[in-house]
Amino acid sequence: MISFVGAGPGDVDLITVKGRRLLEEADVVIYAGSLVSKEHLTFCKKGCVFYNSASMTLEEIIEVMEREALKGKNIVRLHTGDPSIYGAIKEQMDLLEQKGLEYEMVPGVSSFTASCAAIKSEFTLPGVSQTVIITRLEGRTPVPSSESLELLASHKTSMAIFLSVGSMEKAVDKLKQGYGRSDVPVAVVYKATWEDQKIIRGTLDDIAQKVKDNGIKNFAMILVGDFIDGDYERSKLYDSTFAHGFRGAAQ
Ligand code: SAH
Repeated sequence: MISFVGAGPGDVDLITVKGRRLLEEADVVIYAGSLVSKEHLTFCKKGCVFYNSASMTLEEIIEVMEREALKGKNIVRLHTGDPSIYGAIKEQMDLLEQKGLEYEMVPGVSSFTASCAAIKSEFTLPGVSQTVIITRLEGRTPVPSSESLELLASHKTSMAIFLSVGSMEKAVDKLKQGYGRSDVPVAVVYKATWEDQKIIRGTLDDIAQKVKDNGIKNFAMILVGDFIDGDYERSKLYDSTFAHGFRGAAQ
């Protein structure tokens, strides 16, 4: 069996119980070497064979999967965070489908929720925003023009921006245009949950300079929105005058 597993953001204890069990039982692990902690591999059994996908092409990855799957081996394809977000997994799954090879998907803790936890915040605050936009600036991968950062920011929702800290000034310009103000709170979380995690807080006004001063060029999440800092309304869920299926209203 081939299992795509989300490794989580960094801290090895943030993999799911199922993901850890699959690692323990794996004969072969193909891991995304640039962002997955190597400490995950210490949970594998003796004799498990490791491949770092950072130095492999898509075809080479599929070749290993096919060869080992046909031998009846347990194969784990270990992706950073949650594989469904910027994981480049669809192309792998489609090739496996073509070859008639079975596979499964095991989700993981994405770095955008891990980053929100690192700054001890909540994306969806009543009276602030009830929507999270996950996006990125274009790099080698293009972003459709209908999803330009300024357009998305004009909705003034909570935002989690991946893969973009290397173009912080460009991101900030577009965010200012979209939000229509420059005092919007921003937190940049570098290597969330890793030992060298760093949190940089500011606003659209000063965050680009702070990121530069800290020498952060990659491996960081940009969180934007008033959820980071500011007023909100208390939720109805725990409001004593509000009854719901599991609790009556206080008299
Ligand atoms: N599938 C992954 C994202 C892969 S794209 C997930 O769900 O998290 C790689 C980008 O994710 C990085 O450029 C960075 O923006 C973000 N990222 C991954 N791990 C991170 C971490 N521990 N802390 C902050 N950002 C992280």
